[in-house]
Amino acid sequence: MKELQSLPKPTDKSEEQLGAELQQAENEQKTLTAQRAAKEESLDNYDMLIDKRVCPTCERPIEDPSVYMEKRNRMRQDVNTLLDKEGKTEGCKLAASKPGLFSGR
Ligand SMILES: [Zn+2]
Repeated sequence: MKELQSLPKPTDKSEEQLGAELQQAENEQKTLTAQRAAKEESLDNYDMLIDKRVCPTCERPIEDPSVYMEKRNRMRQDVNTLLDKEGKTEGCKLAASKPGLFSGR
């Protein structure tokens, strides 16, 4: 391996460090995915409230669904934000599992 020492190192991080980072990114991604699933369910409920004018739990008709529109928009933004974060953890996972890809700086 001595002849490789002159090549640029892909990363200064040790195997254990990269392993820990990969684990952390995976855990974070799992949490984010669970959060997004819950919010997507709420979003579905708001869609039902607004589009069908029916309460998703008791199925009673909704007189004025417009009050839920702001909540639905916020929920949709939350889902998009979580999707974005999930995408970033994917990048972290890649960086930790294949550090060579990010060499050559
Ligand atoms: Zn209800």
